[in-house]
Amino acid sequence: MGIYYTSYAIIGVKVDLKKFTEVVKGTSCNHSEQEGHPFCPVCGKRVTNHSETRWTDEWDAFSNRMDETPKHYYYISNNEDHDYGYFGYGSSSDRDEGETKAEIPDISEIKGVIESILTEWGLWDEKTEKTFAFYSITDGR
Ligand SMILES: [Zn+2]
Repeated sequence: MGIYYTSYAIIGVKVDLKKFTEVVKGTSCNHSEQEGHPFCPVCGKRVTNHSETRWTDEWDAFSNRMDETPKHYYYISNNEDHDYGYFGYGSSSDRDEGETKAEIPDISEIKGVIESILTEWGLWDEKTEKTFAFYSITDGR
């Protein structure tokens, strides 16, 4: 165990992930009998009303797809962060692997690859296109 950091330098976009989240009403236990009661008639726990943001099943599919990006393309997101991730071409560096070297590519080609993959998921629009830039990101776990 320990803190593990990877740094990335990418030319890419910020990906809005809100479409992969849902706000669900949380329950204090899993007994459906609790509905409408201050205390669950089955287990006796106080019934609380809270809501939480969860990833949808489509998120899992998207996440798996992004594990198989083309060489030198990185998808970076913190699973705790339900708002956005990053996707782009570049290089990374971490303690064990050292740095990676990516040849300087044709910028319009990068944009094309990103657009094509994100379009599959309905994630490419004018707003996303406007975030196309050079990013430096440190991802820690
Ligand atoms: Zn219960």
